[in-house]
Amino acid sequence: MDFYQYKIYCETESDWIHKWMSEDEGALSVCPNNTSHTVTSGSVVITDTILGKGPTMSDGRPIVMANSRPIGYQTMFTMVGDTASGIGDGKEILWDFSNDYDLMASGVAPAGYKGKSICIEFLDGVYVKEGTLYFHSAKKGSYVNFDIVCPDGQYYYDRDLNPVQADGDVVVVRYVNRHYFYGDCPMGDELNTESATDNAIPANYHLCVSIFVPESDTDSYGYGELELYRERTILLPGETP
Ligand SMILES: [Zn+2]
Repeated sequence: MDFYQYKIYCETESDWIHKWMSEDEGALSVCPNNTSHTVTSGSVVITDTILGKGPTMSDGRPIVMANSRPIGYQTMFTMVGDTASGIGDGKEILWDFSNDYDLMASGVAPAGYKGKSICIEFLDGVYVKEGTLYFHSAKKGSYVNFDIVCPDGQYYYDRDLNPVQADGDVVVVRYVNRHYFYGDCPMGDELNTESATDNAIPANYHLCVSIFVPESDTDSYGYGELELYRERTILLPGETP
């Protein structure tokens, strides 16, 4: 329901008279103090407005949200990306330095370090809100970066909001920068934020976790979890990606 404050000039009182009215009551046309007063025709003006319209629940209750989750989006905690054919069935955010999976090519990690790069992607645009890092037997000096990457050939915006086609993979956001961790953290090390970005990360952008550990590390392992906002958290029967 919208509400409007009107003023009308009452010639009987020689004064402007104000009144708040709901949209259902229509516009003010007579003196609020006495309907028999003479008013100046054409003097009615809206002086203030309260717009009550907004999104509502199915039963009509207004939706009031103080968090950053967009209307129509679900919260999803996941350690796994999507594939071209499914949601949540892709690459896992986990690493284990007792094997060579996802190991970076030599020369990529800083001197004295080796690294693993784990990139996941999502079919739909997603908002990243929070992340949690779980790790075991981490050596002193281990750290993690988390980047949002525009893949080769897709578009990102420069600082002047002009679209630019990526020539090779381009890091467009560094979400976590050299976050050091050590030892065991079975309960998880949570990176909290109250907010999410204004715009969703476009579909098929890469979300890349880079883990760097001392070269001597042969047994540490860990995994990461993301809290996302996304429109679809699973494919319904018969639904196509
Ligand atoms: Zn009056």
